[in-house]
Amino acid sequence: MTREIPTNASLLSRLEREGVLRTGAVREAMLSTPRELFVWDGYRDEAYVDWPLPLGRTGQTISAPHMVVMMLEELDLRAEMKVLEIGCGSGWNAACIASIVGARGSVVSVELIEELVEFATRNIRRAGLEKIVEIHHGDGSKGWPPFEAEEIYDRVVLTAATSRIPDFPVRQLRREGVLLLPLGDSPAQILTRVVKDRAGYLSTRPVCPCVFVPLVRSEEA
Ligand code: SAH
Repeated sequence: MTREIPTNASLLSRLEREGVLRTGAVREAMLSTPRELFVWDGYRDEAYVDWPLPLGRTGQTISAPHMVVMMLEELDLRAEMKVLEIGCGSGWNAACIASIVGARGSVVSVELIEELVEFATRNIRRAGLEKIVEIHHGDGSKGWPPFEAEEIYDRVVLTAATSRIPDFPVRQLRREGVLLLPLGDSPAQILTRVVKDRAGYLSTRPVCPCVFVPLVRSEEA
C-alpha cells in the first residue's frame, strides 16, 4: 500500500475540521505562501506533513503547520500592520504574516544564525515578498533595533522559547498591541498571548502547549 502524500489543501481541510484554522485571512495566507518554498532541500515531499522539519545542519527547525496557523490566528493580523518576528528560521512564518499585512504593512524578522539569514532571504525573494519582509542578522532578544525603547510594532512574535517575557520586545510593542511567545523552559512551553492595553499594562493568556527551540540570549538584558 502506498501512503498518500498530503497536499497543502488536504492539510488545511484537516486543520479547519479540527478548529485550528478559523479565519479566511489565515486560510488565504497558507494557500498563497506554500511551505514547500521554505523547507530545506530534500524535504519537499514532507512539506505538508504536520510536523517540524530540520533546517539543514543548523539544529533549528521550520515550525509545524498547525503551530504557524495557531500563531497567525492568535496574532489577529490586519492589513498595514507593522510586525516584529524574533527567530526568522526558514522565513515561512514571516512570509505568512507578510501575506496578511500586505504591501502597506511590514515585517521585520531577526535571525541569529547567518546561514539561516541567507536561506530565509532566498526563500522570501522566491515568494516575491522581499518588499514587505526585512530580515536582519543579529540577536532579537533585545528587540529590533536592539535596545530601542520606542513603541514601534503592532504585533511582536517570538518563535523561540524563553522562561520570562523579554523586556525590549515588550517596550517596542504599541498600545493595544499583541505579543505572542512560547513561555517556559525546554523541552515544552506554553504559547502565551500578551496584550498591552491603552495605559501600557500587560495582560497574559495561555493559548496552548507548544515545543520551540530556546531563545538564545547573548547577554542578560
Ligand atoms: N519562524 C521560523 C522557525 C523558527 S525556529 C520558521 O518559520 O521557519 C527558531 C529560530 O530562532 C531559529 O532559527 C534560531 O536560530 C532563532 N533564534 C534563537 N534565538 C534567537 C535570538 N536571540 N535572536 C534571533 N534569532 C534567534
